[in-house]
Amino acid sequence: MHEMSIAQGILDIVLKTAAEHNAVKVGCVKLLIGQMTQVEPESLKFGFAALSVGTIADGAVIDITITPLIGECSSCGQQFTVEKFSFLCPLCHSANIVVVSGRELAVDYLEVE
Ligand SMILES: [Zn+2]
Repeated sequence: MHEMSIAQGILDIVLKTAAEHNAVKVGCVKLLIGQMTQVEPESLKFGFAALSVGTIADGAVIDITITPLIGECSSCGQQFTVEKFSFLCPLCHSANIVVVSGRELAVDYLEVE
């Protein structure tokens, strides 16, 4: 049910943004979803479709881009793709890692009529 609550949150943003632009219909919603959120794109699309029935976002195309999980080592500054949630610097083996990408869950773009 993780995806259902996320879908609801996205729908809220979409409807609010669309209302601000006096839109009558939402055509396309582009989403950026970080790998670390472990959201299942198909479940999210399904949830959005189910929740948007009867709203102006009903039938909107959901375009999902998964952003990779990228960490940066605080010790040596190396940036790397985090595989299998292994937060260790491949260069200096430090565990002092800052996540720079992969945690986002955002509406990137909205196409309205
Ligand atoms: Zn390092």
